[in-house]
Amino acid sequence: MRPPILFPLFAETRSLPGVGPRLAQLIAKVAGGRIVDLLFHLPAGLIDRSWRPMLIEADEGRIGTFTLNVLDHIARRDPRQPFRVRCSDETAAVELVFFHARLEYLSRLLPLGTKRIVSGRVERFGGRLQMVHPDYIVAPEEADQLPAHEPIYPLTEDLSGKALAKAIQGALATLPVLPEWQDRAFLAARGWPPFGDAIRAAHAPTGDSDLDPSAAPRARLAFDELLANQLALALIRRRLRRRKGRALAGDGRLVARARAVLPFVLTAAQEQAMAEIKADMAAPLRMLRLLQGDVGAGKTIVAMLAMLNAVEAGAQAALMAPTELLARQHLGALAPLAGAAGVRLDILTGRERGAPREQILTRLAAGEIDILVGTHALFSENVGFRDLGLAVVDEQHRFGVHQRLQLQGKADSPADVLVMTATPIPRTLALTAYGDMDVSRLAGLPPGRQPVDTRLVSTDRLEEVITRLQQAIRRGERAFWVCPLVEESEKLDLAAAEERAAALAQCLGDKVGLVHGRLKPQERDAAMARFRAGETQVLVATTVIEVGVDVPEATIMVIEHAERFGLAQLHQLRGRVGRGAGRAICLLLYQPPLGETAKARLTTLRDTNDGFVIAEEDLRLRGAGELLGTRQSGMPAFRLADLAAHGELLAAARDDARLIVTRDPELESPRGQALRVLLYLFERDEAVRYLRAG
Ligand code: ADP
Ligand code: MG
Repeated sequence: MRPPILFPLFAETRSLPGVGPRLAQLIAKVAGGRIVDLLFHLPAGLIDRSWRPMLIEADEGRIGTFTLNVLDHIARRDPRQPFRVRCSDETAAVELVFFHARLEYLSRLLPLGTKRIVSGRVERFGGRLQMVHPDYIVAPEEADQLPAHEPIYPLTEDLSGKALAKAIQGALATLPVLPEWQDRAFLAARGWPPFGDAIRAAHAPTGDSDLDPSAAPRARLAFDELLANQLALALIRRRLRRRKGRALAGDGRLVARARAVLPFVLTAAQEQAMAEIKADMAAPLRMLRLLQGDVGAGKTIVAMLAMLNAVEAGAQAALMAPTELLARQHLGALAPLAGAAGVRLDILTGRERGAPREQILTRLAAGEIDILVGTHALFSENVGFRDLGLAVVDEQHRFGVHQRLQLQGKADSPADVLVMTATPIPRTLALTAYGDMDVSRLAGLPPGRQPVDTRLVSTDRLEEVITRLQQAIRRGERAFWVCPLVEESEKLDLAAAEERAAALAQCLGDKVGLVHGRLKPQERDAAMARFRAGETQVLVATTVIEVGVDVPEATIMVIEHAERFGLAQLHQLRGRVGRGAGRAICLLLYQPPLGETAKARLTTLRDTNDGFVIAEEDLRLRGAGELLGTRQSGMPAFRLADLAAHGELLAAARDDARLIVTRDPELESPRGQALRVLLYLFERDEAVRYLRAG
């Protein structure tokens, strides 16, 4: 349960004075629906009104604040023209310009013969000074209403900065005094203010240095968020660790049979990973291991052998994939090995319904299925294993920590967990998502692979690309053609993919297939199967093929509008080719002109095939928030911390979290109690549930 002290912060923004349903909706778009979301919506810039020059000193284009005498309301000859009010100080005259204003309104705002304090941007127009729509006009006795510094917030269409700023002021007024959860000596050493002061200061910058991520208030808030993240992971991990695991020691007979039918030998890296996994499984502690390897590094076979190891020891194993398509692909790849080993393999996804599903569940509960492959349908409440010994989660970055835990909860005696990630996650990010899981790394790629020859091609040369593709198809090659899918306009993008498929079919005939997320599962399978079998040679696809699709015969990857993709995503896509022995090529089609960042991104990809280099570069170019597409990635989204800027703080937060969990594992001390508030504040509630008195 959320502590009552936080209730005001989790109230809806609509409960703030002056925030109606419409404004609340706009605020929800940029920040979120609750007061805490507003508080965490920090300014991106500031307006400095403290500059108070005489008119004669005013710099054009710069915002200044002036004390003016109102001289004259200039009559309009034409109603389409703006109103002008002439003002002056001792040094010069200026005209205030108002479009769509009413005379009565202006007369009230700027009565003739009075003094007014006017703040805004001065410009020169036909040799005269003017100010269009001043930001503030106040009487001298109301001077204190004029803010010297104003934060600039990220906005959305129809949301005015003033309305948002006012709502945030309202939100700040509700901020209760929270107990200090940071170590006081640490705060003092860093010179960081208490949380409340930090939030208030972060919303009241008075200079550019206050906007810097290293400014004390911002650094403190970032550290709070990072500590919440690291502490949550540390608590979860500790709980999982403390639960006794089980010793699963296979005798090697099934693994040997599967190895015998493999068309290749395992690489040294795969053998090493296998040995680490076997040792973990044999130990009476629960395994929590991350298998990290670049795209195409060969993680799947390692997972399969690990699962066979579990079956040898008399237990069941599960492999969870992020999409149905991948689950089916895994099933296809594992079936021959399972056949050779003589183990019973089956699949459970959202597609299995009714009687077949019931049958699978019954057999699963009876222990008549040894290895179950599936999607997150494996999580659903009524799926019960007889004896789950090992859970493998593939392409982990699509799942959240929470789902991972749910799967683990499936086992009566805690199952070992192997998490596989294909996206090479930079070290800093890995830390935020996985805490300090044990890691096995598949360095390099299986032998015989050549790096994919990557080229940037402007869409101006589309025809040339298609001609080349035509030639390649005649030689019997196979190609993916990827069209971007942007969530906001899924329909339009789908149309683009359909159009592209149709256009390619004009030149290539019935060799062109199409696969996208809106297809019925059966249709999708059929399209994939035709491509796999070589009946179609070009597969036009939206990004549904991004993760894990394995068609070794494909040698060409064309990515349309490559500039719209993230680096990591492009790397994933490119990893779909170059899996066989042949030379592979990847064409990054871009729409000119390319922006600076887009260019840097695409060039990086062209120049390296190393996923880790690419991921680090992506982090640098885009910042962590965006890196993996937070929402779908299951990676934690940070709102106050910026991993590119606060990397050093992350390491400190991890160390602090470890120390806390060692000294006060149930968070019972006064600081521990305060840390619970911190966890709730940053919505790491799931970690609190693992505490005894949570
Ligand atoms: P990923 O790590 O991206 O999941 P996969 O497990 O899909 O990669 O493997 C990529 C391809 O490499 C597959 O076609 C697989 O059969 C093949 N492969 C895996 N291990 C080896 C190996 N040791 N030697 C040759 N090919 C391998
Ligand atoms: Mg894979």
